[in-house]
Amino acid sequence: MTTNEPIGRFRFMNEQRVNLDGFATPAPELGLVAFNGLNDPAPSLLITDGRIVEMDGRSEADFDSIDEFIARHGIDLSVAQEAMEIESADFARRLVDPNHSRKSIVRLASGMTPAKLAEVLSLLSASELVIAMTKMRARRTPSNQAHVTNRSDDPLLLAADAATAAAFGFRELETTVPVAADAPSNAVAVSIGAAVGSPGVLVQCSVEESAELALGMRGLVSYAETVSLYGTEQIFIDGDDTPWSKAFLTSAYASRGIKMRVTSGGGSEALMGGAEKCSMFYLEARCVALARAIGAQGVQNGGIDSAAVAGAVPGGVRSLMAENVMVMLRNLEACTGNDALMSESDVRRTSRTHPIFIGGSDFINSGFGSIQRYDNMFGPSQWNSEDIDDFLAMQRDWGVDGGLRTADEIEVARLRRRATDAVSAVYSWLGLGDFSAEWADQAVDAAGSKDISSGDLMLPLTAARTIMETNVTMLDVIAALAENGFDLEAQRCLDMLKARVAGDYLQTSAIFDEEMNVLSLVTDPNEYSGPGTGYQPTPERQAQIDTIRQQRSVADLLVEQQGFENKNIVVAGPAEVSYDPRDVVIGVSPATGKDIWVTLSGLSVADAIKEVLAGLEEEGCVGRIVRVNDSLDLGMIGLTAARLSGSGVSVGLQAKGTALIHRRDLAPLANLELYSVAPTITRELYRMMGINAGRHAKGATPEPVRNPYSDEAIEARYHTKVVSLVAIERNCVTDAAPEVLELKSL
Ligand code: CA
Repeated sequence: MTTNEPIGRFRFMNEQRVNLDGFATPAPELGLVAFNGLNDPAPSLLITDGRIVEMDGRSEADFDSIDEFIARHGIDLSVAQEAMEIESADFARRLVDPNHSRKSIVRLASGMTPAKLAEVLSLLSASELVIAMTKMRARRTPSNQAHVTNRSDDPLLLAADAATAAAFGFRELETTVPVAADAPSNAVAVSIGAAVGSPGVLVQCSVEESAELALGMRGLVSYAETVSLYGTEQIFIDGDDTPWSKAFLTSAYASRGIKMRVTSGGGSEALMGGAEKCSMFYLEARCVALARAIGAQGVQNGGIDSAAVAGAVPGGVRSLMAENVMVMLRNLEACTGNDALMSESDVRRTSRTHPIFIGGSDFINSGFGSIQRYDNMFGPSQWNSEDIDDFLAMQRDWGVDGGLRTADEIEVARLRRRATDAVSAVYSWLGLGDFSAEWADQAVDAAGSKDISSGDLMLPLTAARTIMETNVTMLDVIAALAENGFDLEAQRCLDMLKARVAGDYLQTSAIFDEEMNVLSLVTDPNEYSGPGTGYQPTPERQAQIDTIRQQRSVADLLVEQQGFENKNIVVAGPAEVSYDPRDVVIGVSPATGKDIWVTLSGLSVADAIKEVLAGLEEEGCVGRIVRVNDSLDLGMIGLTAARLSGSGVSVGLQAKGTALIHRRDLAPLANLELYSVAPTITRELYRMMGINAGRHAKGATPEPVRNPYSDEAIEARYHTKVVSLVAIERNCVTDAAPEVLELKSL
């Protein structure tokens, strides 16, 4: 080979979407390794007079600010000695051993250094990580978080989409802005929409830290997770921060009753050129220890914005999941990534999420894009509204609670209308802006912001300014809701403010259920200890998981068939043997003219017969329709018909559309020509089958007709429908003799 052009097989492979992803040769000096970095220390801990004087190979004098903070606030000295003496492999085995309780593991992990936990977790295989996650997450009941954003910060669309996300089951909604100054308007709109959708949905507006805190203090949002932690000191310095400033900010949220978790995630230090020759996983171990030390409720990690960096190196995806399990070992709420899109390949992104989905996490996604990819102002998520039906089907496939449920279309339409009405009323009442009826109508119907042409892009900005300048708080929003007939939503928003005063949702892994009960480490602890223990969906919840809108029963199909209007096939009398050599019998199945009227292709059974008749006529033959009542087997139907046929040739047709040409001297399972893929058979093909049957009747050997070619799994797609249609056919089987049928409209 002298050409540089790849061969066809590789040109073809190069075009596949996975090749849009970046894959890096491991570069330990740049931190581009998942585990075992050049500078990753061996675990160590030296305590003198109740004070850590050496940690992970570094003596006190050489501590950087992260070491210092962890050593002083992040390690439980009462168990540290005992914990550090346990062999890492021994402790790793305990993570997957039901005989070691979550509690006992958490107790020991609290005394372990970052390098120790990194060493332990690096020993777990992918399947062991799933078990560890099942056992170690703090809250028993899994949940999910959604992104609710759009390109124009459209308050009506935000509210309608927030209500929709709540209807699909998301218990935390995170919004952000393409235009920073719009943030207060987004916070108000999403909070109203969430309250329309369900009680107790937590709302976040992810913006610059002080602005976000200001929104929280006004009661306009109820949780935060954007305080970022890093594993090397230089990145903190670059961001004008220290562990102490992050701890202060965290406390500021908590002191106002705002649920608070921090964000970290492997790969961010390498991305910012500050990995100091350490592995992504070890640096993340430092972040998680720091999160514990500064008193955060939980951690959003598993790559997050840098997930694709971790995904670019060998073992990177496993390390992302191990990060999540580390958060659980530190007894914190785990918001397990799967937010920023890690791969353009559907296969890879599913592969990355699936173990976590199976294992179950406090929040499977720390940002499922409940809106369309183009409207996601965080950038496309790993999962988006394009994938909601897939996600629901996956839950059903595995019987797994991924936090979502099927939402009823009529109910969602009602909620979207209610949400836009509520936002319109509140904005007008508070002098924030007025929306046209056309805008509201478009927002109710819109699948995304591209469907809205009558919005005013300046309105959110004006509203946001007015909110800040006139000091609008959640109490004002509540009053406006109540004054305008939105008592239910006013009460839900007020309940959230009351919950903030009570503070129970500041416990680890806290969410509200739809009765405003707090589910947390305290009230809903995960006590998994092997098969049959831990989280089991209630029968009601299991029914939600199992019931998706696409499912159909035999009864549904029967109703669908009976709803067909032109039932124009009637019985004319008993079928006799013919001796006319031009006679070709079209043998039809028992349900024809009784319970099945439409074939799988959507063509009516009568029209399919009509085409066969027309084809026979073109060849100078005469077709006769005979219903074979005693068999639903197409071969037998064809053969029975052939034996009645004057020419000895027949067409066999099942009401679902499958068809063949038979001859009386052949075995039942043999045939001359076969259309097996009923959903793909068109009028033209049925006519072609009539023509060929006519030619066979005249003794010719025509070129066989073929099933249309498709690379789709057409048959598989219709399998469940076929099962139902066959059941309907079987119900119609009797021992009655064959009968001649007629088409009334002919
Ligand atoms: Ca998030």
